[in-house]
Amino acid sequence: MLILGRRRGERIIIETADGIITILPVMIDGEQIRIGIEAPGHIAVDREEVYRRKQREKIMRAYMVFDREAGPAEGAVLVFHHTAQAAKSLGWRTVQAWTTAEWTDVSAKWIKNGEEELAEENNVDLKGHPRMIESPKACQRCELWGRTPLNAFGVCEFCDMEEEFEERHTR
Ligand SMILES: [Zn+2]
Repeated sequence: MLILGRRRGERIIIETADGIITILPVMIDGEQIRIGIEAPGHIAVDREEVYRRKQREKIMRAYMVFDREAGPAEGAVLVFHHTAQAAKSLGWRTVQAWTTAEWTDVSAKWIKNGEEELAEENNVDLKGHPRMIESPKACQRCELWGRTPLNAFGVCEFCDMEEEFEERHTR
């Protein structure tokens, strides 16, 4: 990292292929430093935490949205969205329509690290628009989805392991 010493009011100029970025220390107050930044309009300038959040939010996550009271085994939709709150909003109408209850409290469970396989199985572009899938591609045996990636026969890892077990013990 390049470290440059500057006094208040002294600029640093960064020349980039996209234009010039000017950095100006405005005020120093103990641990706090206020910095003025000038950059071309198409260059995003963010605090690191905001930048990281934006990066994260570019790629959608996969959520299992279901009736909180009934639980996901009673039915769930697959929602690709950026946050759990947004996934709930997209999925709740469908989940609500399954019950006779006047109001369904829905839950959105992030399927941790499952988005890539689920997106592939359901032809979803994770960098595209939010999507709800009412009948995601499910395991051929247990009819559940989101447990594990499906193998070439469309069977989840749990059922696949059971099959192997049964085979071994019926021989
Ligand atoms: Zn299964």
